[in-house]
Amino acid sequence: MNRNILLALTCLLAAPITSYAGLIFDFDYRYDSYGFFDDPDRREALETAGRLVNWYVDDLDSIIPEGDNGWSSFFTLPDGTQTIILSDLPIPADTMQIFVAGRPLPGRLAQAEDTGPLGIGTEEWANRVRYRGELGAMDDPATDFGPMGGRLSFNNDPEEVPWHFDLSTDNLDSDEFDFITVAMHEIIHLLGIGISVSFNDHVDSQNRFVGPRAVAVGSPTNPNLELDEFEAHFISDTKSPWNGELQEALLAPGIYPGERAFPTRLDRAVLRDIGWEEAIPGDANRDREFNSTDLLTVFQVGNYELGIVSGWSDGDWNDNALFESGDLVEALQTGTYEQGPQAAIFTAAAPSEGEIVLEYDPQTGDIVVDSENQILTSFQLTSEENIFTTGHGESLNGIFDVDRADKIFKLNVDGFSELRLESLAPAGLSEDFLLTDLSIDGSLLGGGGLENVRLSMVPEPSGLLILLIGLVLLRPLFGRIRRRLDH
Ligand SMILES: [Zn+2]
Repeated sequence: MNRNILLALTCLLAAPITSYAGLIFDFDYRYDSYGFFDDPDRREALETAGRLVNWYVDDLDSIIPEGDNGWSSFFTLPDGTQTIILSDLPIPADTMQIFVAGRPLPGRLAQAEDTGPLGIGTEEWANRVRYRGELGAMDDPATDFGPMGGRLSFNNDPEEVPWHFDLSTDNLDSDEFDFITVAMHEIIHLLGIGISVSFNDHVDSQNRFVGPRAVAVGSPTNPNLELDEFEAHFISDTKSPWNGELQEALLAPGIYPGERAFPTRLDRAVLRDIGWEEAIPGDANRDREFNSTDLLTVFQVGNYELGIVSGWSDGDWNDNALFESGDLVEALQTGTYEQGPQAAIFTAAAPSEGEIVLEYDPQTGDIVVDSENQILTSFQLTSEENIFTTGHGESLNGIFDVDRADKIFKLNVDGFSELRLESLAPAGLSEDFLLTDLSIDGSLLGGGGLENVRLSMVPEPSGLLILLIGLVLLRPLFGRIRRRLDH
């Protein structure tokens, strides 16, 4: 081997491996002089809101003042009591330091403002303080944002704002404001909505948001993506999907009591236009890889199939704020499991060909999934009418497997091509019923989802029809009075 090549190879192998941790929100309660966050349940609600809006793998440079390099900022405390000069606080890498407090805020639910630090020292240092290595923030128009953090204030008058702090919405009364929803909205402001150059550079002279990702996503109720008068929210009634259903964007000027809302596809697109980079499904710890460490992470959190509100790092990868088998399907469909960092593999995932047969025996109720020459890593069968019998522990024996009346889920990351479930459904069901009742999803080894699944009736194999993957999502709509958020 040529010695130069050998040297180059050695250098390549010896290059330091960059470790990624993803974006971290560090909520800082030191200025909460009214004691709004003394109750640990309130802190947990705020932390949960942070997890629900954190998909990001961005790496922010640390800001560690040293020698002549420092920073300072005129800083109104989040409790509103005074303005101080905040200076030279060390900010760790990837971390946004967010000062939070309750305070009197007549007429408003909450308020978000940036910290706006000024670096003092060399030009390189000043740029580090201002951009944190997000170099697109220096472009014109700016395409990125690297904030130090910010401050969040919440209305602490229980007469004016009856807050709901529970993680669950089971007891969310019609006159209560969901704290998690409001906190998510405010944290999104700190990520740059209305306060960053890269946001403002995507607002045109007619007050419309023109970022390319947001434009591509669009909104059926606000096709021009018009912003409100403060240029920090979309106009009222701007709708976009969340969990397959249209809801008002979280970037709305107000919020309804008695309801929890989540960031819609449009909200997330705006954040990508500002410069935030989302992780791939499955990458729970946001280190740019989907591997077994991610599964360890989410199962250590322990929300699987429990109906507990969950963010990205808790295992919600299919955008319904829950961690269940559908998230594992979503993640495995990326084809990136244990394949190394996302960028190299993500584009290599190809759509699958061929078909899989779901065989139903009307005499016994047996269901057999046969994928013949394709290897499955996961398979999910759901029933709208909850027709399944349970107790298939012999076949559904994996740690992630689900064996319920409404859902069968099998995961085997080594792959499988047949799944036999005896007496899974009642005997004597018609083909028409099965086609209406059942929904199928799954993933193939190496990535990709199921394309065509044929339903085969035993003993009459003539009726071969295609089952389509579908979701029906219904939520009640009811009239409410909205409350102003923060402007
Ligand atoms: Zn707002």
